[in-house]
Amino acid sequence: MTHIITSLCLRDGGCKTVCPVDCIVPGKSVDKWPLYYIDADTCIDCGACVPECPFAAIFPEDEVPSPYKAKGGEKISAPVGTAGFTETYDGTDHEGNAVHLTAVRTLQAGEEVDLQPDIASNSGFFKEGLGYKALD
Ligand code: SF4
Ligand code: SF4
Repeated sequence: MTHIITSLCLRDGGCKTVCPVDCIVPGKSVDKWPLYYIDADTCIDCGACVPECPFAAIFPEDEVPSPYKAKGGEKISAPVGTAGFTETYDGTDHEGNAVHLTAVRTLQAGEEVDLQPDIASNSGFFKEGLGYKALD
């Protein structure tokens, strides 16, 4: 099994700093791969990354919510061009670097979102070879 970073990720990067096997990588290009991603072949399921995420975006693969019931105010992001993701997000990451995302949506309280497609998206990132390049 592995842990999965879902589209609640806003690229804070804190998770990457605590992973004992260094298997978390930032998506590139950000427009196409806006999240951080976990290399499933390397992840040892230790769970250390979970409490580090300020947006509670990381779940064990078999606990990725479907549906995720929003508290209200959370933001989810998607590849640029995804229908309905019309907001931008500007923040700072764990190290104080600027984060700018251009395909974001704010969830309403009680709104239900299926986060399970993020499992396939995570493996898709590594299948394209992009993740492995980032790990070098
Ligand atoms: S700590 Fe959370 S928001 Fe930051 S990169 Fe990791 S999963 Fe994304
Ligand atoms: S569960 Fe552990 S090994 Fe897997 S990504 Fe998180 S910190 Fe790294």
